[in-house]
Amino acid sequence: MKITFPHMGGVYIPLKTLFEELQVEVVIPPFNNDEMKGLGCKHSPEYSCLPFKLILGNVLHSLERGADTVIMLGGSGPCRFGYFGHLLNMIARDLGYRFTFICLEPSTLHGDIRDFIKKVGCGYRTFLRALMLGWKKLEAVDGLQKKYWTCLPYSRDKEKSQTVLRNAVDQIAACRSVPEIKSAAAAGSNALDSLRQATDSLPRVAVVGDIYTLNEPYSNQNIEWLLAEQGIEPCRSIYTSGWVKNSLLPWNKKAYYCRAKAFAKGYLEDCIGGFALDTVYHAVSSAETGFDGIVHVFPVTCMPEIVSRQVLEKISLEKKIPIMSLALDEHMERTGVETRVEAFAELLHGKKHNVNQNL
Ligand code: SF4
Repeated sequence: MKITFPHMGGVYIPLKTLFEELQVEVVIPPFNNDEMKGLGCKHSPEYSCLPFKLILGNVLHSLERGADTVIMLGGSGPCRFGYFGHLLNMIARDLGYRFTFICLEPSTLHGDIRDFIKKVGCGYRTFLRALMLGWKKLEAVDGLQKKYWTCLPYSRDKEKSQTVLRNAVDQIAACRSVPEIKSAAAAGSNALDSLRQATDSLPRVAVVGDIYTLNEPYSNQNIEWLLAEQGIEPCRSIYTSGWVKNSLLPWNKKAYYCRAKAFAKGYLEDCIGGFALDTVYHAVSSAETGFDGIVHVFPVTCMPEIVSRQVLEKISLEKKIPIMSLALDEHMERTGVETRVEAFAELLHGKKHNVNQNL
């Protein structure tokens, strides 16, 4: 078996660990780039969202390089993500690829995992150990990324901070035990701290939107880096490990959605699919906890986020917080995004400066 899966930020690290611990060969597509986008766009329905096009590009690239099994998360609900796996499966088969398609549906997850374990021929114990190792890596990488974005705008040498992060992530990826992961993460975190210089606090911006665009830098034009370059501290609202905890673990899910609905009350009363409720929740909670601005990133044609964009305008007026929305697709030019980020950063710095002067 040669298994492949699409990219979404650092998710390849725990997945690679999981499968390699089970002695399954893994084919990882290159990080998203113009080639992946071109391949996905060529074979996707024109109006599908950018996440689908990139995911399709990843899968087709891996199938071309010998992968014979594709694994994907499925899902139900009023968002096109639920069809991603099936559509991708049909497109790849129409193109002549033959492979085993494993779609993990949240409603049948236990059965799907049982079938997978049978197919791979490992025991439950081995599977759980591999899963735990992968999970710890995901948590460590997400934790380090959070630290990185908090430190980067204050860094004496941004390129060096980037190298520190890359090296630490590579070390975590290579770890074979939980203590090793912990010490690699702690070393990376200390190294990032050591590059931080003491200055006045900079404007803080919450970056909200759907999980894919938030966590996949190629799809959001590396928005966090652009903000940090302008002296703005970005704070991503959803990390994959947080989403897994809040949305897949039943004992957390209820509490999370109660909290989200309570914050979104008066703006969006229920979950309308995708990440619209999360976007509104994070926007309101950021406005109420002292953030200086909000950046909303989402794919063009993404219905849930188009709805939340309208709601965000109301939040901006009522909570008096500047919000910049960026609708992204395959035609988006980096220069256009840079110009908008520069203008937004200037506004936030000016606002913070005036507030400080009036204190
Ligand atoms: S929520 Fe938006 S981005 Fe995600 S699959 Fe649906 S349409 Fe695409």
